[in-house]
Amino acid sequence: MTGPAEAPLPAGAGLAGGVGGPDTLEPLLAVVLSALRDGAVRRDGPLPAGGPAAVAEGLAGLLAPQSLLPDTGDPQALRLLTEALAATAADPADPYCAAHLHVPPLAVAAAADLAASALNASLDSWDQAPGSTSVELAVLRVLAGLVGFARPEAAVGVLTSGGTESNLMGLLLARDSAAKDSGAAARLTVHCSTAAHFSLARAASILGLGADAVVPVDTDPDGRMDPRLLDWGLADTRAAGRTPVCVVATAGTTDLGAIDPLPVIGAVARRHGVRLHVDAAYGGGALFSRRLAPLLAGLGEADTIGLDLHKLGWQPIAAGVLLARDAALLAPLEQRVAYLNPEDDEGAGYTSLLGRSLRTTRRADAFKIAVTLRTLGRDGLGALVDRCHDLARAAAERIDAEPALELTAAPVLSTVLFRYLPARADPDRVNAALRRRLLADGTAVVGRTVLGEGPGSVRLKLTLLNPHTTTADLDRLLARVRSAGAEMEAEAEAENEAEAAQEDQESNS
Ligand SMILES: *Cc1c(COP(=O)(O)O)cnc(C)c1O
Repeated sequence: MTGPAEAPLPAGAGLAGGVGGPDTLEPLLAVVLSALRDGAVRRDGPLPAGGPAAVAEGLAGLLAPQSLLPDTGDPQALRLLTEALAATAADPADPYCAAHLHVPPLAVAAAADLAASALNASLDSWDQAPGSTSVELAVLRVLAGLVGFARPEAAVGVLTSGGTESNLMGLLLARDSAAKDSGAAARLTVHCSTAAHFSLARAASILGLGADAVVPVDTDPDGRMDPRLLDWGLADTRAAGRTPVCVVATAGTTDLGAIDPLPVIGAVARRHGVRLHVDAAYGGGALFSRRLAPLLAGLGEADTIGLDLHKLGWQPIAAGVLLARDAALLAPLEQRVAYLNPEDDEGAGYTSLLGRSLRTTRRADAFKIAVTLRTLGRDGLGALVDRCHDLARAAAERIDAEPALELTAAPVLSTVLFRYLPARADPDRVNAALRRRLLADGTAVVGRTVLGEGPGSVRLKLTLLNPHTTTADLDRLLARVRSAGAEMEAEAEAENEAEAAQEDQESNS
């Protein structure tokens, strides 16, 4: 006898896992791969041409409510939507897509991530992730060794969504350990450089420390925290009756790639009895490079460290990591939940990672990292880091040699700050406009930031994270920047002349 539970399921309800999963996936993967190819050909560049209005218009039909949730399903959805997604992507695998800490993921990592998706382990309890729990612990063990903790065997960690979550956790753990002794959260402070990541201010605010809890420390001309100013800031804060709970050093600032002087900062933090969190979201991956790893000396002195392998690590998003020097530091996150990690199960060896994370359901992001580490080895990953560093230096040389461009600083990791120099027009306006022109034309994705304050502070930024980019690509990219600059400069001058003419006319009438 068959009941409603045996009625046929709708088309498209095949599963990814199990013995039959690969057979179900295989034709779907063929569809995805050919749609990715077709979409990239249709896009024909680093991003779609035409700007936001053209992208929205191109997708409007596919994304209309009746197309997105029709009454009867559409077997073409995977092909149509994948091709549209690829056609409208800003693709970091294109050498002219070089604005952000946005990497082209390694194919092997993306393939491994498919396996993680198909199996869908959830790291909150052992019985949802038996092998994946071991994989995450093993990846953390390797990374704890790489950062140079004195006793890596005592270290623990957890995968996070990225530097933002790692920073939030670093501050939360520092806050909870200090709050035990000192009471009112409103009097706690966090000390980081003016070039530190904006997520620290947001984390302080989420934690109820108040917007003024973050005490900024000025940087030297290279964008690195000045440790003497940190020392004074910590002393002043205490003298004012507030309690510093955390010093945050940055290893690789988002714009300049500056690495704070970790050994000195560590010594200052220790002398003041304050926790040290290092935001190595960007710079942490430089540890794979024997050439650049010495820049991170002193990292192992940190209490907690955030690393993003979706930056210098070439992982599909997300691949954040929080490491703590000692398991005891993670104690504030401990959770005992009857249906996830009962004490007797844990006692019997059924380790659950629930009590290390802010999240409950959590995907097996460590798996793609494990596959990548083994596939490339330290030397392979180091070679990718070195290649990006070499590209940044090559771009800096070219910019320096080009009179229409001005190099801001020698690259530390893989970012290059510079600007186009117009003869007469306002450089901030021309640089902002030329970047938008490149986006609208679909010819390049170049970053934009400000260095310092006031007129003349706008800078362009290349974040070179594509190890397949060539120096010939850099030449063409910089030529595109120069020609968009010349075009915007001419436009700005024409507008200035028109304005001046109008003013003349008004003053004459
Ligand atoms: C990227 C970055 C972050 C934020 O990390 P997400 O992975 O985007 O959450 C924080 N700090 C620094 C220095 C970064 O480069």
